[in-house]
Amino acid sequence: MAAFDENYARVKEEIAQAARRAGRAPEEITLLAATKTVPAETINYAIGRGLTCLGENRVQELLDKYEALDKENCDLQFIGRLQTNKVKYLIGKVSCVQSVDSVRLAVEISRQSERAGLVTGVLVQVNIGKEAQKGGVLPEALLEFIDQIREFPGIRVDGLMTVPPICDKKSVLSAYFLAMHKYYVDIAAKKIDNVNMRSLSMGMSSDFPLAIECGATMVRVGSSLFGARQYA
Ligand SMILES: *Cc1c(COP(=O)(O)O)cnc(C)c1O
Repeated sequence: MAAFDENYARVKEEIAQAARRAGRAPEEITLLAATKTVPAETINYAIGRGLTCLGENRVQELLDKYEALDKENCDLQFIGRLQTNKVKYLIGKVSCVQSVDSVRLAVEISRQSERAGLVTGVLVQVNIGKEAQKGGVLPEALLEFIDQIREFPGIRVDGLMTVPPICDKKSVLSAYFLAMHKYYVDIAAKKIDNVNMRSLSMGMSSDFPLAIECGATMVRVGSSLFGARQYA
């Protein structure tokens, strides 16, 4: 837990510094803790230290932890790949699904949300590196995709999310982040009905300061907060 305190202070400081370098206010950046493999008690400790937002990747893992989590004090989101048949388990438990990349998935989130009398936030995941194995809508299909889902009554399009290709060249990575930011700004400028561009979710432990400098409003940080993941 002491390690978390140190990590958390450092990550917050790095966020603040990156924001300042970009001429932005640190408060504009939401830190979402990526909590896959992290036990509920550790997550609750982190919430007690001020963490306000967390994201889980796997439906079963989220359900296993759900009852134990201090949800009153923390916004819970879903950031992993999601199969349509598992949507029903998430609705009412997460405020946002950040990985929406098919009309079928959007339809199901909307349908289940409506049935529960809710509106669920969604971010459209963009496959900015056009990687075959990765989820996300291709950049050239993004506008049409948003147009296809924006009027579904049970969802609210809140922004964009991406996981860029793994790459240690800063210039290449920042080109991906800047391209995402341009889509985000351009779509916002269109003022499309039922489309808010209020979250641009990008940047993880290895690259969140760069993502912030390129315009991220939300960073998803796991191992830099909780240490290296141990998979069972
Ligand atoms: C695990 C995960 C993260 C955080 O990764 P770290 O490198 O541990 O910070 C961010 N986004 C998604 C979608 C993830 O699955």
